[in-house]
Amino acid sequence: MSYSIGIDVGGTKVLGGVVDESGNVLAHARRDTPRQGGAELTRAIADVALELLREFAGVESVGISAAGFVSSDRKTILATPNIAGWNGVNLDAELSSLIGLPLVIENDANAAAWGEARFGAGVDEDHIMMLTIGTGIGGGLVVHGELYRGAFGIAAEFGHVRVVPEGLLCGCGARGCFEQYASGNALLRHAREAISASAELARNLLSLGDGTVAGLTGQHITEAARRGDAVALAAFNTTAQWLGAGIASLSVVLDPACVIIGGGVVDAGEILLEPTRVAVERYMPFAGKHPSPRIIAARLGNEAGLVGVADLARI
Ligand SMILES: [Zn+2]
Repeated sequence: MSYSIGIDVGGTKVLGGVVDESGNVLAHARRDTPRQGGAELTRAIADVALELLREFAGVESVGISAAGFVSSDRKTILATPNIAGWNGVNLDAELSSLIGLPLVIENDANAAAWGEARFGAGVDEDHIMMLTIGTGIGGGLVVHGELYRGAFGIAAEFGHVRVVPEGLLCGCGARGCFEQYASGNALLRHAREAISASAELARNLLSLGDGTVAGLTGQHITEAARRGDAVALAAFNTTAQWLGAGIASLSVVLDPACVIIGGGVVDAGEILLEPTRVAVERYMPFAGKHPSPRIIAARLGNEAGLVGVADLARI
């Protein structure tokens, strides 16, 4: 049996695990993500790897996943949206001497897509699109059973496909991006808009939090929707309309067999997925003639990236 370490660098924690050839995570180590980023963060990653290497014999490779653009040779972080001092950092050069094993760096959403493709919801498919829906929308694409990375290593940024001309301003600097309408943040916005239309109808939903619109969270909306709350269900339905329309457009280009939905929003399960399937059918061009991909929930949860990048490091 060969073992590989996967390390997922998130906004709050650096989580590592030893992963076997079947995708099982056999040991964990973690550090808080240093706020100053840069060299401190690089050190925290090395610490996680070294802790696991002390505990576990037989590890042959290390994969590291993080949000942002990773160079096509999978060595350098070209740009990150939310980590200071890490743009243009050759992580491979900085970490190789500290860790002493072959390294692979990968975008976190790509890593999650690979994890789901190899060991999760996509094991039976060769053409997979994955959307990781959290505050934004991360994307990953598996084509002919291989991760598609593009010419510059930064393919599958589905969250930044423009769906509304001159629409809402996005964190990427463009306007009208998909993630402004179909992400977890968008779900919150749709709920707040529904609340402002009818304070009376919103009383149930707001009672789950501190009673204010500002205190509302995605978990509150999911919980309320499970209880059949009309405002929460409407927010999910609006999100699903955008999500389905986006998936239909992307499917015309990519023709995936399945679309795996991951991230925090998928806790809502069929409350989100069923209206999304209906919307995909409704918005699919070539009405009735273009096959629709299966829309399914991710299976590996928060560990998809860790498991995926450990496997990418192995091959
Ligand atoms: Zn954008």
